[in-house]
This record gives sequence, C-alpha cells and structure tokens, in this order.
Amino acid sequence: MNHQNREDRPAQPLPHGRGSDRAKPQPVRAREEAVAPERPRREQGDNPMAQRPPGRKRAARPPGRKRAARPPARRTRESAAARQARTARLLTALKRQYPDADCALHHRSALELLVATILSAQCTDERVNQVTPNLFRRYPDAAAYASADSAELEAAIRSTGFFRNKARSLIGLGRKLVAEHAGEVPGTMEALLELPGVARKTANCVLGTWFRRNEGVVVDTHVGRLALRMRLLTTARDDKDAVRIEHDLMRLVPREDWTFFSHALIEHGRKVCLARKPRCTECALAADCPSAGSIR
Ligand code: SF4
Repeated sequence: MNHQNREDRPAQPLPHGRGSDRAKPQPVRAREEAVAPERPRREQGDNPMAQRPPGRKRAARPPGRKRAARPPARRTRESAAARQARTARLLTALKRQYPDADCALHHRSALELLVATILSAQCTDERVNQVTPNLFRRYPDAAAYASADSAELEAAIRSTGFFRNKARSLIGLGRKLVAEHAGEVPGTMEALLELPGVARKTANCVLGTWFRRNEGVVVDTHVGRLALRMRLLTTARDDKDAVRIEHDLMRLVPREDWTFFSHALIEHGRKVCLARKPRCTECALAADCPSAGSIR
C-alpha cells in the first residue's frame, strides 16, 4: 500500500523512552502499591486480644493450627542433698520392681561371662545369647581361644558385629590368660584392664556379677540414657560420657548397690524407659524422675 502523507500511515511503535505511549516497566514495589489496597497500620493498643471484654472467651484456634511454642520453663537447681535423697528413693523403687535384677548374658563361668561381655559391645544381649552356646562348646577354656584359628572364630561370632576386632581380642585374651594367669580370669580391676578387649564396663560387669565385688558401676547405653533422664549426672557431658557417668553414679549410689543398680537400670531401660518412647505412665520411678511425661 502506498501511503500518501504522514497522517495516512499506520502508527509505528515507538521505542521506550521519550514520547512512547507504552507503559514503562515499573519497579516491583511500585507495581504492588498500585494493585494492593493500603493496609491499615495496627496502632499501639490495637491488639484485639487486649481489647477482649472481661469474661469473654478467646476465639477457638482454627483446626490444624498449632499453638505458638512457649519458652521453656526455667529449671530450678537441685541441691546435692536433694539429689542424694531422690536417688535413694529411686534405688528403693528399683529394688521393689526388679528384686532379682542380674546380668542378662548367659554364662556358667568367669571366662564365659568375660567372653560374652566382650561380644556384647555394639550388640544386643539376645544376639550374644544366641551365639554363645555353640561358641562355648567349641572354645571351652582359655587355651582353646589362645590356639583358635582366627577365620573360624570370626565365623562363629560374625553376627555380633565387629567380629574381626572381637576375634582378635578373644585370641589375645586366651593367650594372656594362659601365659600370665594359669588360664584363669583374674579377680582384680588392675589385672582385668590389662586384658585385650577389656575396659571398665566389662571389668565392672565381671567383678560385680561373678566375683561379687563392687568396684564400679557398669555403664552401658541404657545406664547412660536413664541416668541422664533421671538427672543424676553432675559432671558427665552427655549419656555417652561413660567415665564421668560412672563417677557421678558412684558418688550417689551406695557401694554395695553399684552392681545391682546397673543391672536394674538396664532391665528398666529395656522394659519401661525405652529409648524412643519411654512408658512414663506405667513407670514405678515416675514420682522421682524429672523427665516423667516430658519425652515425646
Ligand atoms: S518416668 Fe519416664 S523417663 Fe523417667 S524413668 Fe520412668 S519411663 Fe523413664
């Protein structure tokens, strides 16, 4: 089409800038202000809750909406004497609840208990009790462990986990017992701690359970967890801090009850004070446990 003059020509789009009739891109804030109606500002004292007439109930919270979290209540510090008295009451309750609390590992001798305790590291007592009948038949004394074929021993204890380390410990244990203790398990803390694979937990268990000597508290995963929940720890940093947990509990519990206290706490941890969902409503210790009902 031939356009004769300027007025006949269709209007050409102009570039952005001077004289353009297209809307300029606005900054985001300006666009929002253009569309959103102005919201009235809340004045001080404009809080509807504060203005609720006396006697009138608060409006129901919409379903599915959670109550805002409140700051935790401040704990009051328990005195040493109060903690001591509370521990005595907990001990009484444990004696009533678990009068026959004992080591759950099946054994007929100090050596069997020592071997089973070494195998129980990072493993359940039930699993160890499944493994030990055949193991004890195949390796009846220290000399049998001393001369064991490592691959065969590893296969026998494989299901308890960490079986290579454990097999190495058992062979070393057998050799040391034969060489230095005439094949017998020694009954002192010092001598037990010299044996491969033996630390304080194992030594306390063997001494307290077999030799009936209270040299310390057996601190396993249950004892650490329960002592922390019952707020019996004063120096331990957490429930894995075994050395300090043992020290804290030895100061609170009478020496003659150290071994019983350990076995009873372990039984309570298995049956009632479970790791994930403690059964506080059926717990005989709840009256003296500061964590009762607070673990979800
Ligand atoms: S009251 Fe609850 S947290 Fe405390 S010992 Fe009992 S089960 Fe465990």
